[in-house]
Amino acid sequence: MNSRIYRISSLKIIGIPLRALIIGISISIFSRGLLAQTPTLTENLIDLNSPQGEQLLMTSQARKDYLPLSIHFITQENLAYCGVASIVMVLNALSIPAPESPGFGQYRFFTQENFFNSQAKKVITPDVVARQGMTLEELGQLLESYPVKAQVYHGGDVTLEEFRRLLAQNLQETGNFVLVNYLRKAIGQETGGHISPVAAYNEQEDRFLILDVSRYKYPPVWVTAEELWQATATVDPVSGKTRGFVLLNQR
Ligand code: CA
Repeated sequence: MNSRIYRISSLKIIGIPLRALIIGISISIFSRGLLAQTPTLTENLIDLNSPQGEQLLMTSQARKDYLPLSIHFITQENLAYCGVASIVMVLNALSIPAPESPGFGQYRFFTQENFFNSQAKKVITPDVVARQGMTLEELGQLLESYPVKAQVYHGGDVTLEEFRRLLAQNLQETGNFVLVNYLRKAIGQETGGHISPVAAYNEQEDRFLILDVSRYKYPPVWVTAEELWQATATVDPVSGKTRGFVLLNQR
């Protein structure tokens, strides 16, 4: 038996060991399977992990939030936890005192499991969020259940110029962050309401970088200011109000 395995693994095809060839083919098939599970980006969006996407980051004059957010970049734990994952990222990036977390011993850190303290549960419970997500107002109130000041703006209440100015200004400053609540369909993605942090602005191309917390589905993308603004000016059927964005800092 062992000698047979030895003989097979010793075979070579055009100079390539058979075992290496089998592993290579397996990786290729597996990779293709993984790629097939991810929706294709439409042409209006620029993948951060592309030469153009990287160039936009390198030439951005408003990227102060990129490093602290990328250090704490996480994947939402279920289909409805985009808001929770986004909040956890900014709470950790702001070094807000965190609760204990099972498995981390004496070290304190925000996770999507320990985020909901008694104050946060008064806003909305984790069960309800897991079923239907959260509205823009609830996003602001959940942030303020910790020592955070959250300013909520509805997309339908601000002009494109105000939207661009408010976000770009924040992205030039340390110690504060932007979370955006938008309709995916309006920027060419699948499909419903979504929440994620905004990490940078490129003035030359007039594009914002979204660090999308549904990392199983989409990469971080650069989207034009106008498209993102329009996507925030869509109505959330749960609240009956337009989506929008939250500017936040530590109280
Ligand atoms: Ca900032």
